[in-house]
Amino acid sequence: PETLSALLEKWTPPSASGPRITKKVYGEAELRAAIDNRELINYYQPKVAVASGEVVGVETLVRWRHPVDGIVFPDQFIGVAEAFGLIDDLTQVVFTEAVTQAKAWRQAGLALRVAVNVSMDNLASLSFLNFVAELTAKIGVAPQDMVLEVTESRLMLDTRAPLEILTRLRLKRFRLSIDDFGTGHSSLAQLRDIPFDELKIDQGFVHRAWADETLRAMYDASLSLARQLGMEVVAEGVEDRNDWDLLYRTGCDLAQGTFMSRPMLAADLPAWIESWRERVRNELFVPAAGE
Ligand code: C2E
Ligand code: MG
Ligand code: MG
Ligand code: MG
Repeated sequence: PETLSALLEKWTPPSASGPRITKKVYGEAELRAAIDNRELINYYQPKVAVASGEVVGVETLVRWRHPVDGIVFPDQFIGVAEAFGLIDDLTQVVFTEAVTQAKAWRQAGLALRVAVNVSMDNLASLSFLNFVAELTAKIGVAPQDMVLEVTESRLMLDTRAPLEILTRLRLKRFRLSIDDFGTGHSSLAQLRDIPFDELKIDQGFVHRAWADETLRAMYDASLSLARQLGMEVVAEGVEDRNDWDLLYRTGCDLAQGTFMSRPMLAADLPAWIESWRERVRNELFVPAAGE
């Protein structure tokens, strides 16, 4: 059945006829207005425990529901937000919605950890940390049920501020996740110094790693490093059964990707969980004959 989120992802406005050659670059004023007018919408993609099939959390992925251009993806506006100093406001809007949703799910009996992507620019001062800590307490969600994902490609710790703020967040019991691991240039020393709870192996080293020796080497090395450092490991970009089976064989903790589900609206999550449980029973963990 078509879900609302699936339909929205496919929707293109009448004005957007013909293929678009170049991606539109959005400007400061337009994005400012979008933040103020609540045009940013949170989508959520499940994170699933590989050993059991259990849905343990979701990652928040923001989309811009543009009145003319339709659904705009974050690669077309996060950089703009960072460049024009709008990223604190943007992340606050996304986080507010996410923590509110986390509370609502819990009240509905769904114990999910909710992850939010955080920009390095959010870690430049104490203001974002204070906002997050105060709001989470006010809404009544345990900090350990919120995950903050920081992408490795931007993890530059030439200044002390981000390290200090990440450490303070960790001391307040928020979970920290290093995203897109393998695409950046974080040193092993940084991995030792920053108290990450979770490591996400970049999708580029996951999908088809079962078929490619080089990818497989990088996947194995990332998994093993995370293990040695005591971090929970998430594989991103799990797109098919072969990808899933590799994670299962190698003991990866969590899986995320289109094999489970694309990002969806919060309203579609309960029905998706039902259908996923059905798949787990019927396809993924079918007992061998005679068992
Ligand atoms: P990310 O945090 O690494 O998120 C994973 C991206 O991979 C998402 O793209 C997701 O839709 C996509 N994806 C999920 N499953 C699969 C799969 O099986 N195969 C493939 N090829 N891709 C998959 P999306 O939503 O376009 O987001 C792109 C990036 O934008 C995110 O990468 C994240 O770095 C950033 N981003 C998203 N939302 C926010 C936000 O609220 N704040 C900030 N600062 N950055 C955000
Ligand atoms: Mg992420
Ligand atoms: Mg990622
Ligand atoms: Mg990414």
